[in-house]
Amino acid sequence: MALFDFDMLIAGAGPAGCTLALHLAPTGLQIGIIEKDIFPRQKICGDALSGKVLSVMKRLPGDVFHDFENTVAKIPSSGIRFTAPNHKSIDVPFLRSPAPGQSAPGYVCRRSDFDQFLFDRLKAYPNVSVFEGDAVVSAMVQPGFAMVKTGKHEFRGKVIAAADGVHSIVRKSLHNTHPDKKHYCVGIRGYYENVTGTHPENYIELIFLKELLPGYFWIFPSTGGLVNAGFGVLRSRISEKKVNLVHMLDNIIASHPLIAPRFKNANLTGKAEAHSLPLGTFQMARTGNRFLLLGDAGFLVDPFSGEGIGNAMASGEIAAQILRENFSSNVFSAESLATYDARIRKRFSQEFRTMTVMQYLASYPRLINLVINKSLKNKELGDMLSAMYTNPDIMTKLTRPGFYARLLFR
Ligand SMILES: Cc1cc2nc3c(=O)[nH]c(=O)nc-3n(C[C@H](O)[C@H](O)[C@H](O)COP(=O)(O)OP(=O)(O)OC[C@H]3O[C@@H](n4cnc5c(N)ncnc54)[C@H](O)[C@@H]3O)c2cc1C
Repeated sequence: MALFDFDMLIAGAGPAGCTLALHLAPTGLQIGIIEKDIFPRQKICGDALSGKVLSVMKRLPGDVFHDFENTVAKIPSSGIRFTAPNHKSIDVPFLRSPAPGQSAPGYVCRRSDFDQFLFDRLKAYPNVSVFEGDAVVSAMVQPGFAMVKTGKHEFRGKVIAAADGVHSIVRKSLHNTHPDKKHYCVGIRGYYENVTGTHPENYIELIFLKELLPGYFWIFPSTGGLVNAGFGVLRSRISEKKVNLVHMLDNIIASHPLIAPRFKNANLTGKAEAHSLPLGTFQMARTGNRFLLLGDAGFLVDPFSGEGIGNAMASGEIAAQILRENFSSNVFSAESLATYDARIRKRFSQEFRTMTVMQYLASYPRLINLVINKSLKNKELGDMLSAMYTNPDIMTKLTRPGFYARLLFR
């Protein structure tokens, strides 16, 4: 079995792993990325790229964002349509007054295209070696180095970043954590053609169905005239009821009074597929001696929206900033890497606390009905909803019980 030596090992070439590699590559460090699949590969996802993704992309070295804007197939999205359990909807633009020529605030981009785009950027760096079709089966830390084994090779590095997704083998090998199922959501999605009633400006749609709360059903206009449709639901709800997700999706599409008419002539292209989302409600150390956990491997998915791509990329960016210092001091102890933990907490703790409260509140259909009913009548409230994803203070306001009490009398 061949043995490869690198400075930095990265398990997984998704958004977290690629962002870390792209930020570190200009240092000239020898980087080895080990990826179980062969690109282009599918990733089960809603494919919505928020402003967070775009802002991390803008800070990547080179013309990455410019290239993304100009070369990748995607649908620009300028807002969200929320539909309450009482079937009332409100359209909320991301920006009330976009500047002329301003790039879209968000996109829907198939993960096979988006991930391939990031992955291809790695080829510009001769010091980055990618091993595709090579799944990590175990990881260990020895005095002086970290090591991973795949079925084909052994890899040694000074430090390893686990960016190998929700079922991270690196995390399971090096980190003694057993998150409860309440910290997971499961999502299922399919690509459908001939779905009617999509928003003329391609707003993404979040439809809060009673049976899924605090999760939701989504319809996201995608490329090629398709929509990405599916739902996310807390795993604790699913196992309570022992539901088959594919049947549940088929059932909603065939019979839900809000959804079925829009899918009357729709065809599923390919098959509907499900995957887990590890939520930021789970708190843990994301570092140890010679390793760091990034993205889904580190439970960084937004507990309310299920958004994880931007957070995964942000964790890759933060890891790169910290690791530059570790490489200059050549120290990779748990204590020295704990700075990454501190930075991740600083970046996400407040946001995750807020979103955990939002997740809780979204379990109450009457509360969602109230917010949407009132927002339809009151422009100020509509403006608040519009700014909630860009202004953390507004999101925090939405988590205060007093806000809902006052809403009753507005
Ligand atoms: C149904 C669903 C819908 C979602 N919708 C959205 C959405 O619309 N917007 C959003 O922002 N987020 C969404 N998410 C969350 C988002 O997909 C993830 O948070 C994001 O992909 C995390 O990026 P990552 O790089 O950490 O992990 P991943 O994207 O999972 O990448 C991990 C990489 O590691 C590789 N890998 C896995 N195991 C091994 C191994 N043993 N050895 C080597 N390589 C390995 C994988 O092949 C993969 O390439 C959704 C998730 C699901 C399940």
